[in-house]
Amino acid sequence: MKVMKFGGTSVGSALRMKSVAELVSGRGRNIIVLSAMSGTTNSLVEISNYMYKKNPAGAAEVINALQSKYTSVIAELFDTEEYREKATDVVDRYFDFLRNINKPAFTVFDEKEVLACGEQMSTGLMDLYLKSRGVKVVLLPALEFMRMDKDGEPDLDYICKNLRPMLDANPDADLFLTQGFICRNAYGEVDNLQRGGSDYTASLIGAAIDADEIEIWTDIDGMHNNDPRFVENTSPVGQLHFEEAAELAYFGAKILHPTCVLPAKLKNIPVRLLNTMAPDAPGTVIYNAKPSREIKAVAAKDNITAIKIKSGRMLLAYGFLRKVFEIFESYKTPIDMVVTSEVGVSVTIDNERSLDAIVDELKKYGTVTIDRDMVIICVVGDLEWQNRGFEADVVNALKDIPVRMISYGGSNYNISLLVKKDDKVKALNMLSKGLFDK
Ligand code: ASP
Ligand code: MG
Repeated sequence: MKVMKFGGTSVGSALRMKSVAELVSGRGRNIIVLSAMSGTTNSLVEISNYMYKKNPAGAAEVINALQSKYTSVIAELFDTEEYREKATDVVDRYFDFLRNINKPAFTVFDEKEVLACGEQMSTGLMDLYLKSRGVKVVLLPALEFMRMDKDGEPDLDYICKNLRPMLDANPDADLFLTQGFICRNAYGEVDNLQRGGSDYTASLIGAAIDADEIEIWTDIDGMHNNDPRFVENTSPVGQLHFEEAAELAYFGAKILHPTCVLPAKLKNIPVRLLNTMAPDAPGTVIYNAKPSREIKAVAAKDNITAIKIKSGRMLLAYGFLRKVFEIFESYKTPIDMVVTSEVGVSVTIDNERSLDAIVDELKKYGTVTIDRDMVIICVVGDLEWQNRGFEADVVNALKDIPVRMISYGGSNYNISLLVKKDDKVKALNMLSKGLFDK
């Protein structure tokens, strides 16, 4: 059994929904995970914002616009009046709910329920569409099995114990369908897995049922070896190790949500990135790949601030780094890159919210310098240190660009370099030229 996840754009119109239905039919008895139709979750966020601001008229305007979109999708998706009515009943349930939240105080709990409407509508429509075509599909409500524990971590035991019986109870089903993104928390309240979290749902379901494979269907043919928005002639990477994929997902390769890699990795289940527009293209497979001794891909992360703390007191001292890190910790500001010398340390952050306060405290320990508008360029591959030449190739490719920080050795899979925002596109292009156009 496989898990096949389709994102918002893949179900973004009646036409796209029809191609997903086509794609999932005849590929085995799999579990299909859907996001909300593209734009829907954003509209639900907007509705919640109006509710928070006690502006029901503002909310109603967004609700009306969203509902008329669904009305036209239904008209286009279904051929018979019978199914159009059934589909209208399904979505009206959610629109009625949205219209009736008339509360003196709108809370985060209400917001979570509002956000949960999108995936329930997309799966409700797909369920009916597949049924109208004679497919024996069973809709599994995610809110009945997808659950987080008290620490906000997925409760894999619970997921497994509740999902399995639902599958076993339906031996005749051709297909199973469920919602991405939505879940319950440890107290049974409606919650979600954060924006973009449907990939995570797919990965968690895959891990819970020991799936043969987790397929993430989007509209590009896999993970590319560089950012196609800035570099021409990028190409899809055929195979990635779980660790390489985790580095790339974090460093802005938008195609896969960073949290998605871990559950699959723990259970050793391959994740395949595929393209709904070109279903037969091989895409990218992420698994426990054998050492490849290759540089696979380059990615960039924007809006980085570098902070340098230089102090004679660091020389031969212990506890200096702890003090520095504790300041960041106390302001809940994660550090991304770190490089040190004997008399100083440079770190990067991607959240400037508490920067002034942090700098103020750091000044107790040394001279502080800040570089704003920086970009982390991340080179990913099987870069085990005993291999020779990778560092040289990377640095050589960037020889015409000023580099503020270099970090290697934290993992076997990544070399990170910090450059100015204005040099980002040039750096990405020079790296493609130097590393991949051989
Ligand atoms: N619908 C949710 C979002 O837009 C989850 C997802 O698409 O993965 O963030
Ligand atoms: Mg996504």
